[in-house]
Parts: sequence; C-alpha cells; structure tokens
Amino acid sequence: MNLPSQPFDLAIIGAGINGAGIARDAAGRGLSVAILDASDVGGATSSASTKLIHGGLRYLEYYAFGLVRKALAEREVLLDIAPHITWPQPFVLPHAQGMRPVWMLRLGTFLYDHLARREVVPGSARIDLRAERAGRALDTRYRTAFRYWDGWVDDARLVVENLKDAAAHGATVLPRMPVARAERVDGLWQLSLADGRSIAAHRLINAAGPWAEDVARRVMGLNDAPPLRLVQGSHIVTRRVHLGRDAFMLQQPDGRIIFIIPYEHDYSLIGTTEGDVQRPEDARVSDAEVEYLLSAANRYLARPLTPDDVMHRFVGVRPLILESGKGDKETTRDYRLVEHPGLDAMTIVGGKITTYRVLAEDVMARIAPKSKSWTGSAPLPGGAIDRGGNGRGGEHGQAAFKRWLEQLQAREANYDPKLVKRLAMTIGAPAADMLAGGLGRNLGGVFEAELDYFKANEWAKSSADVLWRRTKLGLHLDGAAQAEVARWFGEEPADVREIPTGHRFARPGVE
Ligand SMILES: Cc1cc2nc3c(=O)[nH]c(=O)nc-3n(C[C@H](O)[C@H](O)[C@H](O)COP(=O)(O)OP(=O)(O)OC[C@H]3O[C@@H](n4cnc5c(N)ncnc54)[C@H](O)[C@@H]3O)c2cc1C
Repeated sequence: MNLPSQPFDLAIIGAGINGAGIARDAAGRGLSVAILDASDVGGATSSASTKLIHGGLRYLEYYAFGLVRKALAEREVLLDIAPHITWPQPFVLPHAQGMRPVWMLRLGTFLYDHLARREVVPGSARIDLRAERAGRALDTRYRTAFRYWDGWVDDARLVVENLKDAAAHGATVLPRMPVARAERVDGLWQLSLADGRSIAAHRLINAAGPWAEDVARRVMGLNDAPPLRLVQGSHIVTRRVHLGRDAFMLQQPDGRIIFIIPYEHDYSLIGTTEGDVQRPEDARVSDAEVEYLLSAANRYLARPLTPDDVMHRFVGVRPLILESGKGDKETTRDYRLVEHPGLDAMTIVGGKITTYRVLAEDVMARIAPKSKSWTGSAPLPGGAIDRGGNGRGGEHGQAAFKRWLEQLQAREANYDPKLVKRLAMTIGAPAADMLAGGLGRNLGGVFEAELDYFKANEWAKSSADVLWRRTKLGLHLDGAAQAEVARWFGEEPADVREIPTGHRFARPGVE
C-alpha cells in the first residue's frame, strides 16, 4: 500500500479495541487517521477477554460506582450498534455457604439493576435452583441463586467492525506494521515503520495496551511514561457443561469469582485467573491455572470436569493502572488518558472492552472538542440493517437483527438455516450479499467466499487470523479442514489448533 506523504491529523499505535474505537470515532469526525498494529488487528488483549459487556457486579464491592454506571450504560449502546455480535447474557449467581450472604447478593444485584437505564437488558431476580434448568448443572446443595443480566460480545470482531468503519470513513489501517520509533521533528510526529517506510502525523496516540508503557518509553522516547500493572488472565474452553442460555458466576473461597459461559454453541468458556507478569510476552496458561479453573468450576458442578474435557486455553494481559498498595482484584478497571504536555501525544492506560466507545469519545473531547459525538447511535457495519426508522428512532438493534435474520433464512431457504445464522452472526449485514453471490467451495466447514471476504475486507492474511479471530472456527473444524484453510493462505499446514496466535503473547512484530 502506498502511504501518503502529507501528514495525517492523527496516528494511532495499536489496533486493539481502544485504538480501533478511537480510529473510527476520529475518522467519522473528519480527521485523517492512520492506525498501525504490530501484528494482526485485535490480536492481543482484545481477542483474549472474557467477552462480556458488563458493568462488573463484583466491582461494586470496591465502591467503583462511577465505572460500573458508565459500563452498564454502554451495554445498551453496544447491544444496539452491534446486534450481530452481541446479545444479552443471563448469569446465575448461586448462594454458597460461608461466602457472601444472600442479603449481599440481593443488594448487589438490586444496585446493578438500578445504576443505569435498561431497555433490552432484563432486571435481576432471586431464583430457586431446584426449579430451574440451570440448577440441573449444579450440585444439589446449591438451592438459592440470583439471575442477573449483562451482555456478551465477540471481542475480536468488535475490533474489526470498528476498523472497517474507520476505513469506510477514510482511515488508513496498517496491520503487521510495528512502529519502531516515533520522534518529534519540526512539530510533527515521524513514525518509522518496521518495513523502512515512515509516516508523519500532527498528533500521536499510544494505544498499545499492555505494551503502552514500553511504547511510551522506548518507541516514543518519553520519560513520563505512565507505569502499568500487567495482570495475566487465563481461560479454558471445555465441553459444554449445561444446556440453556445461562452463564454462571461462581464465588470462590479465596474471594475470587470465576465465570462459566456458554461458548460457541458446543463449549463452555471458563475464566479467569489473575497473576502479575513482568512483560506481556511472558504470559502463558500454566497447568496450575488450568487446575485452579477446573477445581473452581467443580466446586459447583454436578458432573465434574476433568483435564480431558479441556479443548483449548488462552491467555490475555490486562494493562491496569498501577495503584500502589492495591491488589489485582481492587486495582481499578477504569481507564486513564495520559497527555504528554506540549507534544500533542497521549497514552491510553487501562480500560475494558465495554468502555472502548466512551473512551474514544473522551479522547475526542480533548483533541477535537468542537466536533460532535456520533458513535453512540451509528450502527457498526455489520449492524447496519433496516430498523424501520431513522437511526435510534426505529427498532432496537437486537429486535431488528432477529427479524432481519429470520427474513434472511426464509429468503435463502436453499442454505441450512444454521449456516445462514452463523454467517449473519459473524459479519452481519454483508452476509446477505455473500449468500446471494454463492459461497463457493466448502473447505470442510468454512467456505471460500468467507475466506475471500476476510482477506479483502478484514485484513486477514493467515489461517490463524481467520480460525481464531475473524471467526472461532478453530474450535469446530477438524485438522484436515484447518490444513485446507492454511493451504488456501499459502501456508505449510501446521496443527493451527495448538497455536492460536492471538492467544499467545508474542512480542509485537515477532509473529
Ligand atoms: C483475561 C482478560 C479478560 C477480560 N475480560 C473482559 C471482559 O469480559 N469485558 C471487558 O469489557 N473487558 C475485559 N478485559 C479487558 C479488555 O480486554 C482490555 O481492556 C482491552 O482489550 C484492551 O484493549 P487495548 O486496545 O488497550 O489493548 P490490546 O488489545 O492489547 O491492543 C494493543 C495493540 O498494540 C499493539 N502494539 C504494541 N506495540 C506496538 C508497536 N510498537 N507498534 C504497533 N503496534 C503495537 C499490539 O500488537 C496490540 O494489538 C479483559 C482482559 C483480560 C486480560
């Protein structure tokens, strides 16, 4: 790709969810934007999260009301603008002897219900597990529980959706392009790229997530780099522990909680652990963490999981704001925008998938205060389906998507409705054209038209990009089909199931 010689208004280092959200917002306000990532877009923390759009019920214990309120309000917004990759997610929180008392669970869920406006997310309720389907998955000693609601999101796709919209508004998206050096020259930022080229920008945003401190210090040469606390969190993917939509939020004797979430239809996602790491690339899912997660789940499950039930594991690194004297549980999950005075530069620290859009708005309020917010009511590309009205005047995104999907399944009756649903819940609106145009060769569960689409529209360059981030088909396709995908990308077929790139913290630029 030819790079323009004139300076961009804004260059962003890091195409995780925060960089992608800022790129979309800024490009939509008319700024010329370049966003660069050392590896695949969303390839680091933003594809290794628990994938919840949540206020964080447990953060109420640390009186983080401001953060919880901000995040809860975002649930409704994200469910509306990205209905194809999000849904309201029910959680069952059982009461367990010797842990938080029932009155505390009731108070927490009550506060959670009332801290923010709700339109599509239902309220909480006390339930009797003996009378509930969810209860069948649990040991019979658990009788009382609370059901409350949050949202679920495909994190890696949320990144891609934001970048696609940024690109549609003129942004230049440069994956696999590590920024080796960023220097201030004659009032501009000059970015030296790993391939020897360079770009210039009036303003620079460091959105390098767990690498933000390192990028500020080493790449930008600043001595006011904000200190980060890096906390690794591991997940395991197991056989599905129960049918039904409910996820479980399970209290542990050490005060932690773990989630068991229905995942990719056939599986359960269980996480997370928490432990400090020195460098992001040191993060690994240890066997001890797998054991911890299994025994934490088995404390509750009627039919215990064994190590043989673990199909997959992945790790992410939370870039938290360093707060001296606080442990990993109490350290805030909120973000901070650190401006580097006189340099037209900012480093993003902390944050959540859930708050990426408001974070981007806060950034824009600082760098383009006269421009207007717009992302809260503008659907992401995949969510741009007919809502029977103008923007938010029409149906809510969730209802509109359900109706649109049913119509699409009826119109494309020659295809298996499950396949139509899978495509619609991956790329959203463009699935209609893809189906109408024909899907081409079936490579064993993934179609050539999908691969073409991800390559042409979503910066996919390898089988891992497709199998683990644009989709999660890596969990579903057998070895032969994965090898076919690898061959399609011109790779030596390896056992890609064992090397989910986004879930391994390689040093940026070293794939
Ligand atoms: C285990 C875990 C579970 C989580 N669960 C949730 C959840 O359920 N809900 C929620 O809301 N949040 C959750 N989070 C938090 C959320 O995932 C993160 O806050 C968010 O993904 C951070 O995004 P980011 O864009 O800041 O960083 P990243 O996604 O890490 O992006 C930073 C990017 O910068 C790039 N980069 C680094 N150096 C360079 C360089 N020199 N040049 C170019 N590019 C560079 C990297 O390649 C990377 O892609 C979780 C986090 C973890 C770790």
